[in-house]
Amino acid sequence: MTATSAAAATLATVHGYPRQGRNRELKKAIEGYWKGTVTADALHTAAAELRRETWRRLTGAGIGEVPTGDFSLYDHVLDTTVAVGAIPARHRAAVEADPLDGYFAMARGTQDAAPLEMTKWFDTNYHYLVPELGPGTAFTADSAKPVGELAEALAAGHRARPVLLGPITYLLLAKPAPGVAEDFRPLTLLDRLLPVYAELLADLRAAGAAWVQLDEPALVQDRTPAELNAAARAYRDLGALTDRPKLLVASYFDRLGEALPVLAKAPVEGLALDVTGPAAANLADLAAAGGLPGKRLVAGVVDGRNVWINDLEKSLATLATLLGLAGHVDVAPSCSLLHVPLDATAERDLDPQLARWLAFARQKAEETVLLARGLREGTGAITAELAANRADLASRARSPITRDPAVRARAAAVTAGDTRRAQAYPERAEAQRARLGLPLLPTTTIGSFPQTAELRLARADLGAGRIDAAAYRERIEAEVREVIAYQEKAGLDVLVHGEPERNDMVQYFAERLTGYLATRHGWVQSYGTRYVRPPVLAGDISRPRAMTVDWFRYARSLTDRPVKGMLTGPVTMLAWSFVRDDQPLADTARQVALALRDEVADLEAAGAAVVQVDEPALRETLPLRAADRPAYLDWATAAFRLATSGVRADTQIHTHMCYAEFGAIMSAIEELDADVISLEATRSHMEVAGELAAAGYPREVGPGVWDIHSPRVPGTEEVLALLRAGLAAIPAGRLWVNPDCGLKTRGWTETRASLDSLVTAARRLREELAG
Ligand code: GLN
Ligand code: ZN
Repeated sequence: MTATSAAAATLATVHGYPRQGRNRELKKAIEGYWKGTVTADALHTAAAELRRETWRRLTGAGIGEVPTGDFSLYDHVLDTTVAVGAIPARHRAAVEADPLDGYFAMARGTQDAAPLEMTKWFDTNYHYLVPELGPGTAFTADSAKPVGELAEALAAGHRARPVLLGPITYLLLAKPAPGVAEDFRPLTLLDRLLPVYAELLADLRAAGAAWVQLDEPALVQDRTPAELNAAARAYRDLGALTDRPKLLVASYFDRLGEALPVLAKAPVEGLALDVTGPAAANLADLAAAGGLPGKRLVAGVVDGRNVWINDLEKSLATLATLLGLAGHVDVAPSCSLLHVPLDATAERDLDPQLARWLAFARQKAEETVLLARGLREGTGAITAELAANRADLASRARSPITRDPAVRARAAAVTAGDTRRAQAYPERAEAQRARLGLPLLPTTTIGSFPQTAELRLARADLGAGRIDAAAYRERIEAEVREVIAYQEKAGLDVLVHGEPERNDMVQYFAERLTGYLATRHGWVQSYGTRYVRPPVLAGDISRPRAMTVDWFRYARSLTDRPVKGMLTGPVTMLAWSFVRDDQPLADTARQVALALRDEVADLEAAGAAVVQVDEPALRETLPLRAADRPAYLDWATAAFRLATSGVRADTQIHTHMCYAEFGAIMSAIEELDADVISLEATRSHMEVAGELAAAGYPREVGPGVWDIHSPRVPGTEEVLALLRAGLAAIPAGRLWVNPDCGLKTRGWTETRASLDSLVTAARRLREELAG
């Protein structure tokens, strides 16, 4: 094939598309099925209708090859578990009795059988269900879903490419099943799994698939030589099959690094590569590996993870380079569009100029089509679109929203001294001890108290105009009174106001900061039927007025005990939002940190002796590659310190993180320089206390002693046992007593009973230690 004829055949495609539909029809159908108001047939019909609608839209927009099998009633990793027959023993009977109910049982658990564990899909905010495998796992192919969905698309007249999770990533994402040795490595099951993939591929071919895409995002992480060998072997074996479609191996979210030559040399017909952001390194790596002569390259030039319009000319330049490196180039977003909202044109409330900067799934598909056309027909065929794109990019670059001179000047003037407390920790600890006068093993909570139906109703009433701001304030204040009175009676030492005014710990602040945008329909799937609407960091960030001080002041007026000011940290504000792509994350974090720094100062001025700045996302935002982590941790911890270091010595800064596995960020926790850290620890039986002690952590720690993810109420003895485990690692003078996390999802009855156990246990232990 000559370069010209290769270019002539360029098409646009996508790896996957949002599943829920325009009005979240899928969520409604599934939840209706769970409640018994929607039949299985109706659910299947609704799901098929959504798939048809997606393909129709994509093909209509000019997408030349649509994906199939990316759709899911819950999660595509769980779908893979079904396709390879790796049903956990405890769910097998349910799956055999009724595949649909069994499927949801694996996802959500039943009275008798725990669900599969859920964890984050790489560094996105999507969560998948973790496969459970063991030496006894027997795989069997079940191609019903992949074949069924392909058949639907072909019947509707689309050119379609089934997408499956690849065998290497599937195994690398798995964990040992319950009862299997901790050190069991699922990858050892590869030889058993490959024949099942062979069968799935043969079935798909028989059903009419010319190509099948196998997703291997796990190969963008640091992999051992043994794992790379396994990948080479897998694709050598799959490539050698005679009864199979052409294979397109896809990777995304980062550069392939040492896995790139492995895949480039594999006997498969094509690769899909992410070439956006840090994954742009794939370009040079591909050239160094000798390119993909005679093969298909699906070039991921449209960022599938952010919400911004593409720089079309830049993408065209990238594509031009790639044309010389492969036999054939197609154009695609960098990854599935699952991680962005459906359609930016639905955001009718936005400033129209600003709306032009946004690209959600539908717009990203259109950009992909346009780029493919530019490649096929030459840029002369898309001059008008290129000019419009250039104008939109320019308007964004010089807008007062994205360029606030005051914010920029202040950020530029930040010195190293601004990110350090004026006094060393020992001096602060002493000043804080004198000011706070707390007992040994002080008790506190993480911030939120139960978000009751009445609170949600008050917010809904305010939003709908059924009550005014004054009436809303009265309802929230009533709640604060109750929360404060309760904590005094329960005997807690450091109180909180309970966060009743917060819909969400990020959104609440986003709504109050200039430069942040809220969407109305920007839903993205978090897991199953749970969708979130992340705010958008669109411009330079500033704080027009204090955000939490009134509530704090009110709470403080009700009690003589210390009340914690409560804020969300800069890293978490970024991690749970859509971020800017026109400046480094570190710059955005610094702007958010400066706004928070002012809030901390205002809280301190309002009398707060304790301010907590939550950073639950510090760990989860860790880059996929170890080499990128030090730089990330550097700016992330500096942003936290910038937010918190402006206070007096006797003002105590707390931070909080959820989820275990702190091992990788131990030194970063130290770098935060917070006076007190509370962490989730109950399920791991205080393991983190030992880890912190081993790392020589010198400050105060509150490893959680109540697992707030479960409705179970811990007894006093149970809490005592955990505290004793904590004391084995952390001296009594530095140990706090608190739950694992905030209480917003819990009910009042469990909250009262559980906090009672915490306070009683702390008192008993204090007496023991005194005696
Ligand atoms: N302060 C927050 C709360 O208590 C912290 C939540 C979190 O860590 N996810 O709700
Ligand atoms: Zn938490």
